[in-house]
Amino acid sequence: MSVRFCRIALATVAVSLAVFTATAFANPPNIVFIFSDDHAYQAISAYGEARKLLETPNLDRIATQGMRFDRCLVGNSICGPSRATILTGKYSHLNGFYNNSNSRFDGSQTTFPKLLQSAGYQTAIFGKWHLISDPTGFDYWHILPGQGIYYNPPMIKNGEQVKHEGYVTDIITDLSLDWLKSRDESKPFLLMCQHKAPHREWAPALRHLGHDNDREYPEPETLFDDYAGRGLAEREQDMTLEKTMNDLDVKLATPGSLTPQQRAEWDAYYKPRNDKFRAAKLSGKDLVRWRYNRYMHDYLGTVKAVDESVGRVLKFLDDEGLADNTIVVYASDQGFYLGEHGWFDKRWIFEESLRTPLLVRWPGVTRPGSTSAALVSNVDFAQTFLDVAGVRTPADMQGGSLVPLLKGERPADWRKAFYYHYYEYPVPHRVRPHYGVVTDRYKLVHFYAPDVEYWELFDRQSDPHELISVYGDAKYADVQQELHAEVDRQRTELKVPAEDDPVAYGGRRGAGQKAGQKTGQKGNAL
Ligand code: CA
Repeated sequence: MSVRFCRIALATVAVSLAVFTATAFANPPNIVFIFSDDHAYQAISAYGEARKLLETPNLDRIATQGMRFDRCLVGNSICGPSRATILTGKYSHLNGFYNNSNSRFDGSQTTFPKLLQSAGYQTAIFGKWHLISDPTGFDYWHILPGQGIYYNPPMIKNGEQVKHEGYVTDIITDLSLDWLKSRDESKPFLLMCQHKAPHREWAPALRHLGHDNDREYPEPETLFDDYAGRGLAEREQDMTLEKTMNDLDVKLATPGSLTPQQRAEWDAYYKPRNDKFRAAKLSGKDLVRWRYNRYMHDYLGTVKAVDESVGRVLKFLDDEGLADNTIVVYASDQGFYLGEHGWFDKRWIFEESLRTPLLVRWPGVTRPGSTSAALVSNVDFAQTFLDVAGVRTPADMQGGSLVPLLKGERPADWRKAFYYHYYEYPVPHRVRPHYGVVTDRYKLVHFYAPDVEYWELFDRQSDPHELISVYGDAKYADVQQELHAEVDRQRTELKVPAEDDPVAYGGRRGAGQKAGQKTGQKGNAL
């Protein structure tokens, strides 16, 4: 058994494809980036997930009229770090935003919105920002502070605090469309419409309460995973439906920001169901199953509003005659667990967390209804947007432009393996720092801190749910050796420091971790 890896040569891809300047295009395309938070590909019907959790006709329209990427990966699977990577085209260790606990985005860095702005684009961002410092590179910004809240959210408009009444997804959509209506029609635009939904605690629009008619959802095969076959990190996490979900998550507690009228609508749905739940005194697997179904009602309810938002934006582009010269990109900041392995949340290099949805419509360039299985990533987004606009890409960005893929080409030197690195520990979910390399079929993972040190190898062809590490199995000796060489090569090429920055894990410094954990050494299996 053997796998071969070509050198990524991403720098070559970037340079060869981004040699134009904005003036090369008489009519540069507008860019609409619709971005959600924690949106699992399993919750988009265009991805055809076996559980068929819900229908998303508007998201599916982007796929039907454009391209669905089936293996879009993220470099560090949590909110802030993904956003910093998208803006800079760089991994966390170079853009400095490692975690959601104590990282702060250095807004003086080069970002793709700044470069588009310099090239004559008008730029705006609405909704979830989550990078602590104020946005830079935008003519207009109107963002949620921190994580934001679902009902009647306070927001920050160009530095000024403002209050809104209504549901957060609708408000972000309204603000985005209002800005488009008032734009300078003589210039191309970049609109970043960034939703809070479907982030925890998954609170649907009141109109969507009961959207599923109390459906019982198909369970993932791994809902009751016992984590045998994997190591301490997987066994000792804190992100299960069984132990980690709290009353606010499952709506046994009520959010404090509802108006009295909204509260009445909320109670009309949840109270009778909660009363019935309390009377049943569920425990064990029955309790997990109840939580799973409540979680699906709520999570998918928030996705329904996101799908409606996408529909409104697409309709606006149609009505205004903008659709033909606008590239529409839909993505999330990472994937998410919808009960697989008994989990919610993200963070892992494992598939549901690592993979994020990516749908792109680019009329006249991308063939409608096409799909791509190429290993693409959020590290590629900045270079893609710059390439779309004909703007030169800085040499130190670390991804590659997706434009050739969007044109239906498959560059011979496209990456065969992707590097991943997660840091945040121990709060909030006790997922230990790890890094690894991912190919079409295999995944080599190193858990290295703070009190573990082991490698794992997964063969997704024989083990699609990644349940049994085959690290150390003689049958995989060649693969293992080649992947070790690949991860070493990528760490060098991507300039990953041999020891982590002491601030990488977040939280209080010195709490639960030692600074400068060595990350390069190899060790034993399990
Ligand atoms: Ca997120």
